[in-house]
Amino acid sequence: MSKVIISTLYNSDVFTMACRQFDKAADAINLPEAIRDRTKYPRRTFAVALPIRRDDGSVTVFEGYRVQHNLSTGPAKGGIRFHQGVTIGEVAALSMWMSWKCSLVGLPYGGAKGGVIVNPSQLSEGELERLSRRYMQEMIPFIGPHVDVPAPDMGTNEKIMGWMMDTYSNHIGHIVPGIVTGKPLALGGSQGRREATGAGVAYLVKKYLADLKIPIEKATVAIQGFGNVGSETAAALENYGAKIIAISDHTAAFYNAKGINIQKALAYVRSQKVLHNFDGGEEITNAKLLELKCTVLVPAALERVITHENAPRLKCRILAEAANGPTTNQADKIIDTRDDIEVIPDVLCNSGGVIVSYFEWCQNLQNFYWSRDEVLQKLFVILDRAKDSVELQKRKFKFSRRLAALTLGIQRVADAKAARGLFP
Ligand code: GLU
Repeated sequence: MSKVIISTLYNSDVFTMACRQFDKAADAINLPEAIRDRTKYPRRTFAVALPIRRDDGSVTVFEGYRVQHNLSTGPAKGGIRFHQGVTIGEVAALSMWMSWKCSLVGLPYGGAKGGVIVNPSQLSEGELERLSRRYMQEMIPFIGPHVDVPAPDMGTNEKIMGWMMDTYSNHIGHIVPGIVTGKPLALGGSQGRREATGAGVAYLVKKYLADLKIPIEKATVAIQGFGNVGSETAAALENYGAKIIAISDHTAAFYNAKGINIQKALAYVRSQKVLHNFDGGEEITNAKLLELKCTVLVPAALERVITHENAPRLKCRILAEAANGPTTNQADKIIDTRDDIEVIPDVLCNSGGVIVSYFEWCQNLQNFYWSRDEVLQKLFVILDRAKDSVELQKRKFKFSRRLAALTLGIQRVADAKAARGLFP
């Protein structure tokens, strides 16, 4: 008998979406009722008030969260998002996806996610530092290198991880580099971590193109989002010889049939912060970008951008989900019926980030550091293994690729919970 008594705490479209994905996967593998709800619902959630002194002397209170979805398979792991649209339901959904992702690729981690409701571009550097430190200060009782290990996500970066590591280390009394990943190299960050998510996305795209017998030099790519993940994916795919025909961020989208010069776009964003007024292509809308005819479409921004409205109009051969949760359940159903589109689901596609975070944490715990080549080579071995296991599961049970990836991830978490038993 399945009985779940749960509040409306996480109520949101995105949490419902993550739950529907889970239910479908749990049904597909006949997950026993006794283990289902335990595996599905977040283990614990912290909501904190973060009062920050502004540069003008006033005080603003920001709201922050950390959702630890699963701690049964290792320390919880997942990024911290700074974005004005953050909700507790979104953070909970993202924490679920971290659990399945870590489990799918075989990392000894649970899943977590953090978030602060803030537009970081509206804070000065000093205000951003005070907010980052305050968030870490509030989290100290709940996290640790063997409890929960945060990392960057949308709106956060190496510098912020450095401040957080320093705050935690000051509290403990000595340096604790393993408390967060995605740190600057000078503080025990890993070679290759900054580009890891994009490098992983590009590597998998290259592999799937090869499976489809499409030469990468003939591939055209449209990328939504030009933050860390989108821009590193663009650079890596350009390096492999693909032509990037469209890029965008929240301020503008650009199309260039001859190919956008990614180094030029990167230099532009370094100086201007956003793509607005970039002159490397014709300006289009973000909605149009998603519907461009291209070989590879890469959503690398927010959740739920591929919907039942645009799904029938997608004109890509591969949908490479660099973002977490970019495709709604309804859109997914439509894409399932389209033999012309191969989906590389988020939990596989963007797993390069957390895989190299794992390497960073291992290096921190051992105080023994690896070269960039070693990191990337080890990353590609794990991605190959994960891809093979997804393809096997897909063939064996005639699942969609998303269902194959999710069932593998969920099964491993459920097995660990069953093996540990119910305490007390
Ligand atoms: N935020 C990234 C993700 O969604 C990375 C998480 C990590 O490295 O822990 O996968």
